[in-house]
Amino acid sequence: MASSHQIYKLITILVLFLSFTLTSLAENVQLASETHCNSGTRASSCNNYKESKKLKIIAFFSILVASIIGVSLPLITRNIPALGPDRDPFVIVKALASGVILATGYMHVLPDSFANLTSTCLPNNPWRKFPFTTFIAMISALFTLMVDSYAMAWQKKILLKPQPNAAVTETLENGSRELENENGNIVADDAKSQLIRYQVIAQVLELGIVVHSVVIGLAMGASDNKCTIRSLIAALCFHQLFEGMGLGGCILQAQYGSKMRWTMVFFFSVTTPFGIVLGMLLETVYSPSSPTALIVVGVLNACSAGLLNYMALVDLLGADFLGPKLQGNMKLQTVAYVAVFLGAGGMSVMAKWA
Ligand SMILES: [Zn+2]
Repeated sequence: MASSHQIYKLITILVLFLSFTLTSLAENVQLASETHCNSGTRASSCNNYKESKKLKIIAFFSILVASIIGVSLPLITRNIPALGPDRDPFVIVKALASGVILATGYMHVLPDSFANLTSTCLPNNPWRKFPFTTFIAMISALFTLMVDSYAMAWQKKILLKPQPNAAVTETLENGSRELENENGNIVADDAKSQLIRYQVIAQVLELGIVVHSVVIGLAMGASDNKCTIRSLIAALCFHQLFEGMGLGGCILQAQYGSKMRWTMVFFFSVTTPFGIVLGMLLETVYSPSSPTALIVVGVLNACSAGLLNYMALVDLLGADFLGPKLQGNMKLQTVAYVAVFLGAGGMSVMAKWA
């Protein structure tokens, strides 16, 4: 009896000892992985604070200039008569822009969100147990549709409000009679409502692009790896040039007044440089691989991806390619498809860098 009691005692001590060792070992591993996850890149010959600061200032100005050129380029073409809103070249510029926006969603923002939300710096449960990225993107696309459809219905209601002096007020409930009676007015209202729609699309698109543009700047600003920064400068310039052309094409279609147009140009142009400055200011506290940063940026990216994919396919490509102008002209339709593939292909190549 005594010996078996001693054996139990020994086993208990052994189990306690083992569990203690294992827990402390696990804690150490966790601590190690946490420090790795919080510090991001480890020190190497490339890490040079002074050098990288100089490069970041160069990046700030060159990306700013590239963004301004990119987003203004489609807008400047507005002054060339051959590129007027009703001409064929306008349709082709728009098709190129739509391709760029589509690729921004599918090739830049969506994969970024996957990388963020399935990062090994996040706990396995729940982040790698459920495809959060696609779920959030799907819900975001549906919400964009809801905003789109409710806004349109609300606008129609406002625009079709019976005028006090009109003799046809009783028949306005009926769509066909209203068309018979107020043909001229309705057509004018339709054009106006279409224009308002284009303006809403341009603004929402800018919103969808903003997160990605700030985040790529933020990542550069917070890094002190001069090798990465050096190779990123040219890539980000092209990135902003191309993305700017995509957004510029949509601003062009919205036919804003010059004040609003240049406000939108300004906001797009400063997003990435703003991200760089923000990253430089937060360099000591901001770590792209900290769990909070990963979740916040990952969720925002997933929302942007759903929004961009919906808008590119429904509001830009669908509206144009299924609309009367391209449906009535097979040759123009084919050329426009070439433009879409060029835009989407070019922006896809950029995905290699940022
Ligand atoms: Zn990108």
